[in-house]
Amino acid sequence: MRNNQIYLNPSEMPREYYNILPDLPTPLAMPLNPATKQPVGPEDLAPLFPEELIMQEMSQERFIKIPEEILELYSLSRPTTMHRAYRLEKALGTPAKIFFKYEGTNPAGSHKTNTAIAQAFYNKRAGVKKIVTETGAGQWGSALSIATQHFGIDLEVYMVKVSYDQKPYRRTLMQLHDAKVYPSPSDRTNSGRQILEKDPNSPGSLGVAISEAVEIAANSSDTNYALGSVLNHVMLHQTIIGEEARLQLAKVDEYPDIIIASAGGGSNFAGLSFPFLRDKLTGDKKDLRVIAVEPSSCPTLTKGKLAYDFGDTVGFTPLLKMFTLGHTFIPPAIHAGGLRYHGMAPTVSNLYENKTIEAASYHQIEVFDAAKLFLTTEGILPAPESAHAIKGAIEEAKKCTERNEAKTILFNLSGHGFLDLSAYASYIDNNLEDYKLPDEVIMRYFADLPVVD
Ligand SMILES: *Cc1c(COP(=O)(O)O)cnc(C)c1O
Repeated sequence: MRNNQIYLNPSEMPREYYNILPDLPTPLAMPLNPATKQPVGPEDLAPLFPEELIMQEMSQERFIKIPEEILELYSLSRPTTMHRAYRLEKALGTPAKIFFKYEGTNPAGSHKTNTAIAQAFYNKRAGVKKIVTETGAGQWGSALSIATQHFGIDLEVYMVKVSYDQKPYRRTLMQLHDAKVYPSPSDRTNSGRQILEKDPNSPGSLGVAISEAVEIAANSSDTNYALGSVLNHVMLHQTIIGEEARLQLAKVDEYPDIIIASAGGGSNFAGLSFPFLRDKLTGDKKDLRVIAVEPSSCPTLTKGKLAYDFGDTVGFTPLLKMFTLGHTFIPPAIHAGGLRYHGMAPTVSNLYENKTIEAASYHQIEVFDAAKLFLTTEGILPAPESAHAIKGAIEEAKKCTERNEAKTILFNLSGHGFLDLSAYASYIDNNLEDYKLPDEVIMRYFADLPVVD
């Protein structure tokens, strides 16, 4: 039998996260306090995050030891399997070798569990009793609910209202883990009330939900905030994916020529690619290509602007230097909810600015076509977010066919799609739309960017 899956034993699980900050091609721009425009220090972040996470956010250590308690919880679903997509290769008739790392095997069904467990652990160690967060379609909220339930921390989740109403199953998963879930905008915060006053039927957005969660955490002493992507410490925790992938590919004497992942806030992309980018930034793998794939309707890297911007809609968060579509931009309602964010992680933005990595964007329907081909060849139903990476991998494999090159392609299958079947039903019924986003529309939101100089 052919070896479709490459395993790691639990004893081989990596014991350190990789911190890319000291290896970035140019130093990372400091986050700024929006009122003073001065760099944010640890004390500014203390109302929201425990000290150990703030240290990780700013650390210049290349490797950070993973505590035993985190490793123990990871071991429920890690190491995750590396797959060789032989049947997809055959269907494409490509000489390329396609590998993927599958992060959908934990109960939340996505890579977000990797940072949820770490963030809950460090909050617990700091004596935090309650965490408030936001969630879009519910992937992050459900991952965090599993982790907080384990560590005995209360969790309150502000869930974007359209998803709260239309995608009830992840809400149920959060509630099973004892989380309190509220539709956002809510009347529980000034931010929510402000939005509802303008539009009582507001469908909500991730940016608004972040404003609600941050507002609550900033105003209560025993309550912290947690974010599922974008921040440096989140990228750090996700590097467990790439560290495992390195060991797995080494077992079959492979090293990727091309790495591909979807990018919403950048965390699954960072998780898979940063440990390999270490070799490009500090070693001899100068030809390694790394591609972030995003939706054409939320083209943060491919059409956005590198600027200081807020992480939320109302304007509570520190200003981050990142590729952004503007914090007032509300992306069209595509089914890859996890990719509907206006900004991109500052680390990923830095690498893109320095041309260390590339970006590509695809429309919704061609992405679902790729998902269907993947399902029917490899037997896994991908999350619509992950299907963006599949589409990217298929396009690169086709180029290999044209050029008769046997490149090794590695992509991240960031989650499964079993709670997205309503989106697949729309696809089958021809009810999916490709939203065209004219450049004039994108430019409009740049006018709301904060003025920094
Ligand atoms: C949230 C999510 C994403 C996008 O978030 P990143 O931080 O960019 O990784 C991608 N895939 C899945 C399955 C998700 O849940």
